[in-house]
Amino acid sequence: LFITLEGGDGSGKTTQASLLGEWLAGQGREVVRTREPGGTDVGVEVREIVLHHRGDIAPRAEALLYAADRAHHVATVVRPALERGDVVIQDRYIDSSVAYQGAGRVLDPAEVRGISEWATGALAPDLTILLDLDAEAARERLDGARTRYDRLEAEASEFHDRVRSAYLALAEAEPERFLVVDAAAPVDEIAAVVRARVAGLL
Ligand code: C5P
Ligand code: MG
Repeated sequence: LFITLEGGDGSGKTTQASLLGEWLAGQGREVVRTREPGGTDVGVEVREIVLHHRGDIAPRAEALLYAADRAHHVATVVRPALERGDVVIQDRYIDSSVAYQGAGRVLDPAEVRGISEWATGALAPDLTILLDLDAEAARERLDGARTRYDRLEAEASEFHDRVRSAYLALAEAEPERFLVVDAAAPVDEIAAVVRARVAGLL
């Protein structure tokens, strides 16, 4: 079972991933929690470039760096875990690239998706949880939590509005794969909605 979490920075993906992981482990499932970018040793190096490189990165180069991280991650972590029968709970996947490199950096979303499908052999999640939060609320949360912003978090709210709209469009296009939740709701309430949906997949 391959479950991905998506949403803007500050939407609570990591918190929900951890609560879901604990619950699944309590149900006796083997759980692998991972993330992109940076779910492997190679990925940690790619993450440092895409998040903290000083200076601009050409949008297509940035898209390829995320895809390279993803290719190595899927080949060495995600597919082996799924083949063992583990549940994989992952922060961010191809939808992040469609939203950030596509809508955010204004590349063709179909092309951005295409390079990630090539990178991963078109491995698709069974469920994608979209934690939907408006750009203003997200900014407030980040301002409370951050001492330094990464390159993307520092983008203007207009960038994050485009990302959010792209996510919602993706969810609308594939309603069977997506669970959209209001990320402004209480943590426990969100966790309960997520558990109910995942329980139906076990
Ligand atoms: O989710 P996390 O905070 O680890 O993501 C790191 C950063 O990378 C975020 O600021 C996110 O906006 C950005 N990102 C991106 N494109 C992706 C994945 C992440 O711009 N495909
Ligand atoms: Mg972040």
